[in-house]
Amino acid sequence: MDKLYDVIIIGSGVVGNAIAREMSRYNLKIGVLEKELDVCNETSARNSGVLHAGFNNKPGTLMAKFCVEGNQGFDQVAKELGVPFKRCGKLVVGFSEEDKEKLIAMKEQGEKNGVKGLEIIGKDKIKEIEPNIDGEFAMWSKTTGILNPFLLTIALAENAAANGAEYYFGNEVIDIKRVDDIYNIKTEKDTYKTRWVVNAAGLYSDRVSKMLGIDDYTIHPCRGEYFILDEKVGSKLSLPAYPVPNPKEGGLGIHLTPTIDGNVFIGPSSEYIDERDDYSATQKIMDLLIKDGGRIFPHIRREDFIRNFAGIRPKLASKEEGGYHDFVIEMRDEAPNVL
Ligand SMILES: Cc1cc2nc3c(=O)[nH]c(=O)nc-3n(C[C@H](O)[C@H](O)[C@H](O)COP(=O)(O)OP(=O)(O)OC[C@H]3O[C@@H](n4cnc5c(N)ncnc54)[C@H](O)[C@@H]3O)c2cc1C
Repeated sequence: MDKLYDVIIIGSGVVGNAIAREMSRYNLKIGVLEKELDVCNETSARNSGVLHAGFNNKPGTLMAKFCVEGNQGFDQVAKELGVPFKRCGKLVVGFSEEDKEKLIAMKEQGEKNGVKGLEIIGKDKIKEIEPNIDGEFAMWSKTTGILNPFLLTIALAENAAANGAEYYFGNEVIDIKRVDDIYNIKTEKDTYKTRWVVNAAGLYSDRVSKMLGIDDYTIHPCRGEYFILDEKVGSKLSLPAYPVPNPKEGGLGIHLTPTIDGNVFIGPSSEYIDERDDYSATQKIMDLLIKDGGRIFPHIRREDFIRNFAGIRPKLASKEEGGYHDFVIEMRDEAPNVL
């Protein structure tokens, strides 16, 4: 293709589309390259759909900053895009004295990050907020919300496209060369020319980085499996209920989440895997979801399971290291005009 773009974004998940939308406010020629046949096919399609408040992240990290700012600004974004969103709050429930100490530390961390509306509550208050959740005490976060991640990602993309961003699906980027300050991005279908490149390729962002000459990232895929429960269970759960997370695991623990469409998710598990596209469900994990989920929400019946799915976390932290790293947003000398 002879056309020269100002910016090409690689990846059409929630991150690539949010960037496309934001950039489309300016007078720029924008292209989005996506290997799948539509937007929102990978991690953005396979998660809990929770708008986090920002108390899980270490103060000073990009995660803490964006989580808090993103949460506070989301009513406006949802309104502009016409995306249904419910600020229903969330409970992180504990059972032991050790859990209680962790909840108090989590509240303090959240407050350092600027999260408002955090409160430590006892059993009676838990039952008042949601009678179907069990726990001795909890941290109640009033600003957490739920949304449908497909609708959000699609709305971001449609807004960007309406503002002139051009989308190319079924275009997996396989090679990138820079000639005379112009990047030539080769896909299986064509070659695209651009002055700037944004790498938003999620699980494959390390491979795209390597094509750009940046060698020092490795993504470790970490799968999370879920059950979806029938809509009739939805009326029994008004807000997400999480356990106290184990920091070594690098996930937030197996939780119960009402979806904006009226179902309930149980999950996700947290398991490092070898392949980045292995979305299989396993008996071992399904049993674990029922056991761990049932501790917080004793209304799980097998006849309510309507299907299962899995998402894969693109982690920079390896299994041995545990936990998780901060977001990476950077520009490097070895790859000029690349974000
Ligand atoms: C189990 C689980 C639960 C989660 N729960 C939550 C939650 O409740 N709340 C929350 O905020 N976050 C949650 N997350 C995290 C959230 O889902 C991710 O942060 C977010 O979806 C990442 O979006 P992305 O655009 O970076 O990646 P993706 O959605 O994966 O998008 C990347 C895109 O790049 C494309 N791509 C890759 N390589 C190429 C290539 N070579 N050429 C062209 N295209 C390419 C892919 O096909 C994909 O469409 C969860 C994640 C998981 C796995």
